[in-house]
Amino acid sequence: MFDLAKQDIKYLPGVGPQRAKLLNDELQIFTYQDLLYTFPYKHIDRSRLYAVRELTTDMPYVQLKGRILSFETEGEGRKRRIVAHFTDGYGVVDLVWFNGLKYIISAYKVQTEYIVFGRPSAFNGRINIVHPDIEPADGLRLNTLGLRPYYTTTEKMKRKGVNSRTLENLTTALLQKIDFPIPETLPEYLVGELCLMSLDTALRTVHYPQKAEELKRAQYRLKFEELLYVQLGILRYAKERLKKYRGYVFSVVGDLFRTFYASRLPFELTAAQKRVIREIRHDMGSGRQMNRLLQGDVGSGKTLVALMSMLIALDNGFQACIVAPTEILAEQHYATFLKMLGDMPVRTELLTGTVKGRRRREVLEGLENGTVQILVGTHAVLEDNVVFRRLGMVVIDEQHRFGVAQRAKMWRKSIQPPHVLVMTATPIPRTLAMTVYGDLDVSVIDELPPGRKPVRTIHRFENKPAELYQLMQHEINAGRQVYVVYPLIKESEKIDIQNLEKGYEQLCRDFPHLRISRVHGKMKSIEKDEEMQRFVSGETQILVATTVIEVGVNVPNATVMVIENAERFGLAQLHQLRGRVGRGGDQSYCILVTKYQLAADTRKRMQIMTETNDGFEIAEADMKLRGPGDLEGTQQSGVAFDLKIADIVRDGQILQMARIIAERILEDDPHCAKIDNEILWKRLRQIQQKNVNWSSIS
Ligand code: ADP
Ligand code: MG
Repeated sequence: MFDLAKQDIKYLPGVGPQRAKLLNDELQIFTYQDLLYTFPYKHIDRSRLYAVRELTTDMPYVQLKGRILSFETEGEGRKRRIVAHFTDGYGVVDLVWFNGLKYIISAYKVQTEYIVFGRPSAFNGRINIVHPDIEPADGLRLNTLGLRPYYTTTEKMKRKGVNSRTLENLTTALLQKIDFPIPETLPEYLVGELCLMSLDTALRTVHYPQKAEELKRAQYRLKFEELLYVQLGILRYAKERLKKYRGYVFSVVGDLFRTFYASRLPFELTAAQKRVIREIRHDMGSGRQMNRLLQGDVGSGKTLVALMSMLIALDNGFQACIVAPTEILAEQHYATFLKMLGDMPVRTELLTGTVKGRRRREVLEGLENGTVQILVGTHAVLEDNVVFRRLGMVVIDEQHRFGVAQRAKMWRKSIQPPHVLVMTATPIPRTLAMTVYGDLDVSVIDELPPGRKPVRTIHRFENKPAELYQLMQHEINAGRQVYVVYPLIKESEKIDIQNLEKGYEQLCRDFPHLRISRVHGKMKSIEKDEEMQRFVSGETQILVATTVIEVGVNVPNATVMVIENAERFGLAQLHQLRGRVGRGGDQSYCILVTKYQLAADTRKRMQIMTETNDGFEIAEADMKLRGPGDLEGTQQSGVAFDLKIADIVRDGQILQMARIIAERILEDDPHCAKIDNEILWKRLRQIQQKNVNWSSIS
């Protein structure tokens, strides 16, 4: 028996120094253990052959047996490709390559039997298979093949001739070499209680399962283990933080809160708002430092919750601060607060990059001597010369622009860390929140203020604008306002702005009697704000804009959101944009304008948008379409979990299980000292050394 984690991969037969370097660099495989834990991303049942005539474009992968009749080169320049006409004796299908043309021609021969494997797609009305896998058919015994593993490889690896097949061979060699049971990494009692596969069986099976059910059990075991250690890590860290950091105790519910509640509230709070405020009050009175994530769909009334929580801090003699992601939003919060607080004795100030000179000095002074009680700002409040006298509470609005490092910076502005409330409209699915923010408590506003009518969402093609114009005109005649939004990304900024300008001019021509604003990211900040202000005040009826309005702007009188080139937006963004309308009591509309020809997943996005207004549903769908790695809000959370096998979208139930077990273990063994658990704590230490610097996560 040897230690898998200490065996250098280069000594595995078939590897050697050069391939070892490739495996090191490209896949971070350094040892036998690393290879063993490089799991296949899929298995494909290769025991079945299809007939060419059966092929449709809905099929995921198919396997064909037959011969290449002839090769042809088609197209010019970047469209140059090789087409092989392939037949199984009954039908003909085209195999297509865009890369490695020379290699293809020399590698494959006409009239030789091959097994071709790939995904059918449609081109010019014909079915073809692009970049198929091809192997000689002789010697392939289909019925013994079972489920074949597929491993991720990189472009560079492929160029050097190391593909999924190579990894398959290496794994086979390795598993043969390990002629002893791989040592268990979970306590015996857990394996027994949860009827898990042993680690040894699971690792062998996950690469080479005979049947689908077996594969499932092996994956379950490995996923559970992975998530259990993540949860143990988070929970242990959270407990330590609890010991280390005491929180300010806000024990009084004082005059400001009471006065505001009794006489300044323009409407009744929703039940969800009340519940969340209760949760926050409880946290802030508990003696431990609050770290709470407040999720609420766009328009659910988070701002008010923020203000009322801040008043609690003020009532206890502390200052409070809210950080917004953009200047426009900070200004809007500031205006909202001033209006809501009215003549209450609260000094509220604004601090953004544009607050300069004497004004700035006054604000800074007021913060330092404690006369400024509420500060509304942007990232500018993070600067070192912004010093508070007694900062007790920080609200961070629209968290996805605000990373862990910034949070930590706010902490340092106070003797003890202030209570932190992070607000987001990006509905992070619960399972994800649990993993990424395992130590944050989560509150959810799952209810919109009464009287809101759900936004009606319609998908329209760009070549038919008449109906759209009619709707816009109708709403504007009724005194409402309209947003028209264009996409803008860095890579195509010039063209995007041109598009917006064109759209703007078109609208000016089509609606000559109307006043129209336009705002885009390339304008000067002052100009932008002015134009924005003209729309907010109702002076202009249409706002043509890039996504600068995506976050947080509140114009209840706007009832139509037209999204041009909607195919270029992600689901989360579309939902955010749609949230800009439907904020008053009137029926609102969101029109998704796209070109006629759409890819399947784009059509799916449009369909989801027209079918549901539920942010959580949309977020789940978004994760399924894109995978959690891309989800807005996770990149900057600062928590880089290296999940090798578990998938937080699909494995929500396993995650829940892991959470429950982890909690039980820590309760039962708070000092991590029980003999039965020895294996757990040892492994956790190993994992933490390797992966995440836990102490840097707040
Ligand atoms: P978000 O959660 O997107 O930040 P806001 O806080 O901007 O939402 O609130 C959206 C609108 O709903 C605002 O105009 C606000 O005044 C209003 N609002 C908030 N709470 C209520 C309520 N309980 N009843 C009626 N309107 C409310
Ligand atoms: Mg908001």
